[in-house]
Parts: sequence; structure tokens; C-alpha cells
Amino acid sequence: MKIAVFDGDRLGLVEGEEVVDITGTLDLRPGRGGPLLAFLDAGGTSADLAALDTTALPRRPLAGVRLEAPLRRPGKVVGAPVNYVDHQLEMDEQRTIAEYGVFLKAPSSVSGPGEAVRLPYTDRRTDHEGELGIVIGSFAADVGVAEALDHVLGYVPVLDITVRSTEDRSTRKSFRTFTPLGPWVTTAEEVGDADALELRCSVNGTLRQHASTADLIYSVAELVSYASHVMDLEPGDVIATGTPAGVGPLADGDELTLEIERLGRLTVPVTAAGAVPYARRPVPAGLTRTEG
Ligand code: MN
Repeated sequence: MKIAVFDGDRLGLVEGEEVVDITGTLDLRPGRGGPLLAFLDAGGTSADLAALDTTALPRRPLAGVRLEAPLRRPGKVVGAPVNYVDHQLEMDEQRTIAEYGVFLKAPSSVSGPGEAVRLPYTDRRTDHEGELGIVIGSFAADVGVAEALDHVLGYVPVLDITVRSTEDRSTRKSFRTFTPLGPWVTTAEEVGDADALELRCSVNGTLRQHASTADLIYSVAELVSYASHVMDLEPGDVIATGTPAGVGPLADGDELTLEIERLGRLTVPVTAAGAVPYARRPVPAGLTRTEG
């Protein structure tokens, strides 16, 4: 199944070129997390969705709806630094995720398909990082690798937008609109082996990143297991699995597209509206605004 959120907190299942609106069959109070998070928080599972009789439910052409982030405010967004060897080499990194562990992005950085990535600085590079996103379906703490996938609801393309500056990683990756998510969550049983998905990330039609999740240093199961030994993983949490080589700068007016085999295509525009010089970022008066 493909689980989508659309047209102002409607929850739907994508079937071919249509979306079946299942909102009316569920008693959901979406809150700030949106309807899918509310469904998961209430104990909903993909088996519950699969059991729905959708024959009489309203259908809309996919092309006629406005898709939103399937999880507008996940409880947390976990990131995986340096989880592909080719990206380690391009960044001249001595270490990998094995030494760094995972990091967190602010849930408020999540945005949806078609929502513009807003560049914060006029004079600092802001990069795209196209990544496989894991969506947690059930509570997981200290789970082993063999059990890890039992806690995965599904997968979603995720862009881990990142400023290259001296600011802390959680700052550089948490600006508003820095975690585009979509177009929908494809459930684990439909995806099959998530460690063998082709990933393509392009800017203005030019391919910048092209990889297979087979090259992840920590596989999907290893990453879920590892993260669950650090923090409780809760339904609706998103884990961005790390980016392959080919990251590059974004500029005003760009169109950024991430496509992952079997998961669909996520496209967002890029704008520099509101960007300020790095030296003009708000810092306390009297402090030196060091270059970074
Ligand atoms: Mn990343």
C-alpha cells in the first residue's frame, strides 16, 4: 500500500493514478502531526489499512489532489551521517556512522511535495542529500537486527537539506523546509527488500546522485537496531538513512527531484527569498560573528 496525506489532512491510499480517501472510515484527530501520525498513535497498523473495504470509498485522480508530507510532524527525525562509503570519500571524512552514531533533525523542518526549500543564507552553501527514509510503525527499544524490520511501517523518499557551515549538525539540518518528505509512505510488505532500491536525485533535470541502498554501510535493519539502542523509536518516527555521493549546492529557482525505486518521486522548488548573509544571522550584540 501507498499511504498518502492530501488536501488538508485527508488520509488516502494510492491505487494506480487515483487516491482512495479513507478519512471518513477512521475516527482521527490529526493534531499537528497530521492524520497518519494520529492513526499510528491510536495503534493503527498497515494490516488495519489492508483490511479496509475501499470499494465504496471516494476516489480522486492523483493529479487533482495536493499531496502533503505524509508525516507533517514526526515525533523525531533521526539522521545517519556518513552511511555510504562514496559520500565519505567525497566529504574527505575520516569517520563513518560507526563512529558518529545518529543525529536528530527538528521535526518542524519537515515539508511536503511541492513546498519550496528556503535557503537561509546568501553566502553559505546549502546542499541536497537524497535519502531513503524509514517510517517506524511500532515502538522499538533495544531491538536486535533480526527483529528490527518488524518495527518498520514503510519507506519514503526524504531530502536531508544541509547548510555547510561551522554550525552544529542539528542546526545546519533543521531550518524550516529542510526535510521534504513524500510523495507518500509505501508499506514495507509492498517494498520488499529495502536494501536494494535504486535512488536518483536530480537538480533541474541533471542527475546528481545515483546509487543503490545496497551500498548503505548500516543497512536498514542495522540502522533501526542501532538507533533503538540509543533512543526509543516510536510510531511515525522517520529515520533518514544517509546520502550517497553527489551532494551539491542548491540555488534560487532550482527544482529538486528525488526518486526512489518503488517509492515514487518527490519534487520541490528552491527559493532564496528571505535569505540573509551569514554574518547577518541573529546573534547577541557584542559577540563576534565569526566566519564559518
Ligand atoms: Mn543526510
